[in-house]
Amino acid sequence: MFESLSDRLGGVFDRLTKQGALSEDDVRTALREVRVALLEADVSLPVARNFIKSVEKKATGAAVTKSVTPGQQVVKIVHDELIGVLTGDGDPGTLRIDQAPAPILMVGLQGSGKTTTTAKLAKRLTERDKKRVLMASLDVNRPAAMEQLEILGKQIGVDTLPIVKGEDPVTIAKRAKTQAAFGGYDVYMLDTAGRLHIDQELIAQAAAVRDVVTPRETLLVVDGLTGQDAVNVATEFDDKIGVSGVVLTRMDGDGRGGAALSMREVTGKPIRFVGLGEKMDALETFEPERVAGRILGMGDIVALVEKAQATLEAEQAERMMKRFQKGQFNMNDLKMQLEQMQKMGGMEGMMSMMPGMGKMAKQMEGAGIDDTMVRRQIALINSMTKKERANPQLLQASRKKRIAKGSGLEVSELNKLLKMQRQMGDMMKKMGKMGKGGMLKQAMS
Ligand code: GDP
Repeated sequence: MFESLSDRLGGVFDRLTKQGALSEDDVRTALREVRVALLEADVSLPVARNFIKSVEKKATGAAVTKSVTPGQQVVKIVHDELIGVLTGDGDPGTLRIDQAPAPILMVGLQGSGKTTTTAKLAKRLTERDKKRVLMASLDVNRPAAMEQLEILGKQIGVDTLPIVKGEDPVTIAKRAKTQAAFGGYDVYMLDTAGRLHIDQELIAQAAAVRDVVTPRETLLVVDGLTGQDAVNVATEFDDKIGVSGVVLTRMDGDGRGGAALSMREVTGKPIRFVGLGEKMDALETFEPERVAGRILGMGDIVALVEKAQATLEAEQAERMMKRFQKGQFNMNDLKMQLEQMQKMGGMEGMMSMMPGMGKMAKQMEGAGIDDTMVRRQIALINSMTKKERANPQLLQASRKKRIAKGSGLEVSELNKLLKMQRQMGDMMKKMGKMGKGGMLKQAMS
């Protein structure tokens, strides 16, 4: 199996969390891994190259928001870009079948899953869209193919055009059209013949049928496991016959779905459905998010991003705890606690999570500490110099005045803050002494 991109990026992220900022080199290293993942997922080289280029441009120019690290930003850009490329216009699951009877032409190579997909789609249209569907096989070269469709039709309860031996595809198509009109069908689906390779006769036959019925949709069925070949097939079918959408089959297999990306990028054709198995209900509307996750080998980018974040926070907590045990609790620590409070849904949310903080929560309430207050306290700390934050005992009258002025607040508020810092410091020290696996660790994890 493939090594997932999240594993590969793990190393890059480890370094990021230590450095805290993303250099141009880091962007490049991360994107190199993304490129390998794309190639392993069977994305063609030029497509992968283009993709990386556009991501690099966006990653370099992107404003890094406060709540995420630059590394997370890169992953998000990669993910969003994939979805952007994979997403076509309109809803992939909605077929143009407004005029009855609406012809749908199914084309593709032999063995791509064309007949199976025809039946799957007929079932979907019947059950979900409440359409009356007629199916017809035009594969005169392989009588077994016609019978196969008939059998599938019986299985799913969808009508098939009676088989008449000796008819050519165009005649069958005309008969299907007439039958669909007189029989009151909403949709008729034509399963054309497939070959192992594209040849002139195959194309000429499909084109002749197309001219007779003027399909509302011409769906190309391609084997998603064939990667680059699938893209070449699509390009040729589209050039010669004109394709309105693509169905990628065997997306339940080991392939990583890179064909989907190349398909969109090279042919510009929307992927409408994906086949996810041999069973008749193993057909789903194409979802760019799902395929993007699959190509990147990370089902859940959010989880990865959160993991990176959690590692960072755990390291910070560990460092803090060591200092608290030694009785060190300065304004930087307080600031971090206050910011944590804001993140966890304010004072109440935070206190409710911290065992042993109940008493303090009441004290704070009594002192009128609320979320506005927290913001003001952070503003006060921001007005202190680095030295003052590390050593709050330096704060004598003149410094206090300067800080209060700088944050637009009163010295009395600064005094309250200093008292809080001392109280919390005492409490942290006590909690820290309870041991590594003690209350503080629980409270902070
Ligand atoms: P055709 O020659 O293009 O009409 O191909 P068929 O419809 O006969 O399918 C060829 C084989 O592929 C059959 O055994 C199908 O059951 C199988 N098949 C079709 N679609 C899928 C799919 O999405 N996933 C899997 N695993 N098998 C599929």
